[in-house]
Amino acid sequence: MAGKIGNVLHYINGEFVEGASGNYFENVNPFTNEIINEVAEGWKEDIDAAVRAAKEAFDNGPWRTMSVQERMTYILRIADLIEKYAEEISYLESLDTGLPISQTKKQAARAAENFRFYAEMVKSRMVGEAYHVDGQFLNYTIYKPVGVAGLITPWNAPFMLETWKVAPALATGNTVVLKPAEWSPLTANKLAEIIHEAGLPQGVFNVVHGFGETAGASLVAHPNVRLISFTGETTTGSEIIKNSADTLKKTSMELGGKSPVIVFADADVEKALDAVVWGIFSFNGERCTANSRLFLEKSIYDSFVEKLKERVNNISIGDPMDPATEVGPLIHRKHWETVMNYIEIAKQEGAEVYSADVPEELKKGNFVPPTLLLNCHNSMKVAQEEIFGPVMAVMPFETEEEVIRMANDVKYGLAAYVWTNDIKRGHRVAQSIESGMAWVNSQNVRDLRIPFGGTKYSGIGREGGHYSFDFYTEVQVIHVSIGDHSIPKFGKIKQH
Ligand code: NAD
Repeated sequence: MAGKIGNVLHYINGEFVEGASGNYFENVNPFTNEIINEVAEGWKEDIDAAVRAAKEAFDNGPWRTMSVQERMTYILRIADLIEKYAEEISYLESLDTGLPISQTKKQAARAAENFRFYAEMVKSRMVGEAYHVDGQFLNYTIYKPVGVAGLITPWNAPFMLETWKVAPALATGNTVVLKPAEWSPLTANKLAEIIHEAGLPQGVFNVVHGFGETAGASLVAHPNVRLISFTGETTTGSEIIKNSADTLKKTSMELGGKSPVIVFADADVEKALDAVVWGIFSFNGERCTANSRLFLEKSIYDSFVEKLKERVNNISIGDPMDPATEVGPLIHRKHWETVMNYIEIAKQEGAEVYSADVPEELKKGNFVPPTLLLNCHNSMKVAQEEIFGPVMAVMPFETEEEVIRMANDVKYGLAAYVWTNDIKRGHRVAQSIESGMAWVNSQNVRDLRIPFGGTKYSGIGREGGHYSFDFYTEVQVIHVSIGDHSIPKFGKIKQH
């Protein structure tokens, strides 16, 4: 698999092209901080070209008007090709992001499943409900694609998050301009190659690489883009909502998180331990649903923390390409600095910091040691702000009421995890948490049909299942006369 990776170009109107400016930016390997390759830097002109192609393909191409069955043959072809290139996708993802290969290797299969799932769903859902009125009229609904869809994605699980949007957007007949994160362009490029190989009509799918403030902002402001689906930071989401207001776009926001995991003393402690460790350290802690705040019932606090420390000491930190690696380097030096800075802040705030050792030979990479911030208070910055790395704030609690209050005392509301063997309490606590998703005695397992997303500062809307179908379609009502009915005759000259 290893070999020279070529430069990344935009994919516009069915061709891989250089940007209008001819500028490139460097794409860096987080494990070595060496340059992997260069990436075409998109500006407004490139976004304009991509949107023009997408609008032409939407208005005049066959994509929107072809039969659903025919469109689904393309969608299924994309799924097959994703599976064919699964190993390469996993390799590119780990190379680009530093995510351990053992954790990226299943992502292609899940992405393929997502395309297949929408192919199936769309076949049965483009026509909605129908009602007769007085035997004289038929009212029925149809679902239509919205138009040119602007998709803006982050770097933390790029292929998975891109395909979560691309699959339903394309399956429902929209045309797409994707602006992937600047720190992780490789698998977005592979997706463009796959879609090209699947033979989609030109202009249906486009990718413009580049930075948020330029390429991303131009996509958001473009008058011919009808919707923006965004996953990323809360502050960026809020900026995008403001900037899309003038052109009144439909928006979907999947934003940051600071999710609590609550372990009651009656829980299956060994299982809870596995889940807590996995939930903060998998994907290098760079996951929106990471359980970054751990609440432990006071009676098990000391023993649980001892076990946590033992796990932290034993985590294998290393080369993302090594199948044994559990925690790899963070995406970028800048993000590494942010996360390391939070560990300093934790010390200043009075938390006890317990970190694993990073071996000397790894220090050229962006390695943050898996870290526990012990004896935190919920009001500390490190217990309130999203750190987005392998760092977890740990706090004791005494009562159910107290832990619910603390869990909710945060601006985010994405995920929550509850561990207890009292089934009534499990449901009760899960339902009391202000979050879009809560798991009881489980670690983030989710069927693709179930909605994904958050409340409060964690987002607006949901992705997955029919929620994405609804977002990427407009419902239109058709009212037809099917009988011989009379119409009130306003203004007609009366016969005397
Ligand atoms: P980010 O907000 O910095 O960037 C995300 C994308 O937005 C990138 O493509 C970027 O170029 C673009 N962008 C930046 N500024 C923009 C602007 N003004 N206009 C248009 N586009 C702009 O986020 P990130 O650092 O790439 O990702 C990490 C964040 O994503 C974390 O906060 C994480 O919690 C969140 N996230 C949320 C979910 C979820 O489903 N809720 C999933 C994964 C990640």
